Amino acid sequence: MLTSNRVKNLHPYVPGEQPKDRDYIKLNANENPYPPSPKVQEAVLDFVKKHPEKMGLYPDPDSAELHAAIAEMLNKTGGVLCRAVYKSGDDDIAPSPVDKIPFTVTPEMIYTGNGSDEVLSFVFYAFFDSGSTFVMPQFTYSFYPVYAGFYNIPSDCIPLNQDWTLNTEEMLAHAAKNQGGIIFANPNAPTGLGLTREQVRKMLLTADKDQIFIVDEAYVDFGGESCIPLLAEFKNLVIVRTFSKSLCGAGQRLGYIVANPELVNIVTTVKNSVNHFPLDAIAQVSGTAACRNPSYYADCARKVVTERESFYNFLVDNGFYVLKSQTNFLFAKKPGLGGDELYRRIKSSGLLIRHFNTPGIEDFVRITIGTKSQMDELRKAVLEAIK
Ligand SMILES: *Cc1c(COP(=O)(O)O)cnc(C)c1O
Repeated sequence: MLTSNRVKNLHPYVPGEQPKDRDYIKLNANENPYPPSPKVQEAVLDFVKKHPEKMGLYPDPDSAELHAAIAEMLNKTGGVLCRAVYKSGDDDIAPSPVDKIPFTVTPEMIYTGNGSDEVLSFVFYAFFDSGSTFVMPQFTYSFYPVYAGFYNIPSDCIPLNQDWTLNTEEMLAHAAKNQGGIIFANPNAPTGLGLTREQVRKMLLTADKDQIFIVDEAYVDFGGESCIPLLAEFKNLVIVRTFSKSLCGAGQRLGYIVANPELVNIVTTVKNSVNHFPLDAIAQVSGTAACRNPSYYADCARKVVTERESFYNFLVDNGFYVLKSQTNFLFAKKPGLGGDELYRRIKSSGLLIRHFNTPGIEDFVRITIGTKSQMDELRKAVLEAIK
């Protein structure tokens, strides 16, 4: 027998397709259609040209400069880019009053890893246990069940409400019974719907303080409410975020958590037991430069929000049922036309959107919001598809 028994039980995540056969307009993986800030490009080129010797040395295992830059960005923006307010000057940006964090986020509250997928895997390893069952929504980020299988952690999937929102009461009731912690994305994927900070706070007040409570904020910069302000009140809260969506950095593989330092230290211990250097030197340089230019990314987030609202109206006007998204994608279905059929018709017009073959959501497609010209192409393809 060549393989371990463990390997036989793996059910790997299937990402949005990345075809090479044709130049598709890619609206299927929730990537940001805009490139990183010119300052990021400059910082990376500078690093490679001026410090080539550093490419031969191990990077900082603690990513200290990056952690400081992330903390500063969160303090300056309140952790929701699309609502951050310009002051004058290049990077003079302030949180909108609703987002202001009532304490200072410190670098000790940040942990970074090789994409939030890796971060989530370490978080699962650190805080969920094979001896107890954790709770998640039935429809949420489809990597969570993959990690549960990988680490052999039992899970309890709670159906969504009729209106596709999270059934928070049922999740709390099951969490109280199982004593194994909770995870969900907020805003959730693939629905795009979010809970308010106050709704999450009420959940945290009810939940067992000894159980971990994980909120994945991959999409919060496009209009959700961040739970970072709740960290002062709840020591069992872990917030997971990523550079892949709002920070135009999916290619960089940068994800992070914001949590109290004791929890950050636990995840760091896991990391140091697997890979001491999850972030390469160039990723640290580019991530740091991105965080120092939040106004650029706030602009990108606002452009995405504008396109999202306009495309929402287009779909509704053409007879689609569309959920009211707080993210950089729309979850929609056309009555009478299956999700798979719609996906295939759009693909034949040269655009990729995402269809999940999951019972319960198979009528829907998930459409990533691109640039205005990409969305104009998609408008034409949709009109053709529903003709
Ligand atoms: C995209 C996504 C991630 C993964 O992000 P990476 O940092 O690219 O690994 C995590 N959680 C949710 C909900 C996502 O949609």
